Amino acid sequence: MKAIQIVKPGELKIIDMVKPVIDEKNNILVKMKAAGICGSDVGIYHGTNAAATYPRVIGHEMVGVVEETGSNVRHLKVGDRVIINQVVSCGHCYPCNHNRGNVCDNLQVRGVHIDGGYREYMAVPEDDCYILPSNLRDADAVMIEPTTIAIQSLSRAKLEDDDMLFIIGCGALGSSILRMARLSKARIISGDIVEDKLNQAKMLGADYTINLLDDNFEEKIREYTCGRGPTVTIDAACTKDSLMNAIKVTGNAGRVITMGFSVNPTEVNQFLITSKELDVRGSRLQNRKFGEAIDLIKQGKIDLTDAVSHTFNFMDAQKAFDFIDSKDYSIKKIALMFD
Ligand code: MN
Ligand code: ZN
Repeated sequence: MKAIQIVKPGELKIIDMVKPVIDEKNNILVKMKAAGICGSDVGIYHGTNAAATYPRVIGHEMVGVVEETGSNVRHLKVGDRVIINQVVSCGHCYPCNHNRGNVCDNLQVRGVHIDGGYREYMAVPEDDCYILPSNLRDADAVMIEPTTIAIQSLSRAKLEDDDMLFIIGCGALGSSILRMARLSKARIISGDIVEDKLNQAKMLGADYTINLLDDNFEEKIREYTCGRGPTVTIDAACTKDSLMNAIKVTGNAGRVITMGFSVNPTEVNQFLITSKELDVRGSRLQNRKFGEAIDLIKQGKIDLTDAVSHTFNFMDAQKAFDFIDSKDYSIKKIALMFD
């Protein structure tokens, strides 16, 4: 079978790989149908993802159809359309024992530490497969994974209806967080430096939008939050200044959620954290949130139709990554398709 491998940073190759066979543990053979391209895949391609190891078959937004089931499979059957959990955890370390398998001490993420979904077939455990809603196209289904990441960040933020949420960044991640947060009554401010993205955030239901290049953006945030600052700030931009900005603007007793993977030092100020008693929390991957995301789709509370803006055949992965590098504003989400 064919697979897309990042041999080393900057080098993407189509390789031949042995088709996996199912066993006791990896008891479901999935024929891949669609795989999303995420910012982190681009990071692995460019060598800016500190977690990745090479060579690697990337892709962690993995949608396919069950082709074969092992004898110990209980629920799934051949023909079921599924999305695959990207998190592989050990089940016996401190985080796992505290239901935090997404930060397992022995964490392996498909497409990052072990081979992921840019290949024609995968063998995975039944428990890592989630059946898709029937009305959702394969391409759009890849968006369930970013949705789970958004759900995770809001659960880390413990978002409540009386919160004033500031989302820094209106890209793929920020938009997913906005969509999910819009299900609550929280007041939402979206910030970005691109006007088109701010307009899109407005359409997705942001109460206010702010261009972070405006000199007086901090003032505006205070104005939109009754003078006290957001109660929750989520950094979905993860740029050099975003953490300090988040800590600066968030009000007393607030929560600041980080999602970035940069290893570059960033300056923060202890007084701002201590004096306001801020909780600064990381949010990584997702902790068994696929069921929740799929339920919300089935209930019609979130709509992923047309969330994918472009598709490419997976054999044209190089073209797709080059197109992403062009930073075309029309790109919302790209999915690689397998037939
Ligand atoms: Mn992703
Ligand atoms: Zn563990």
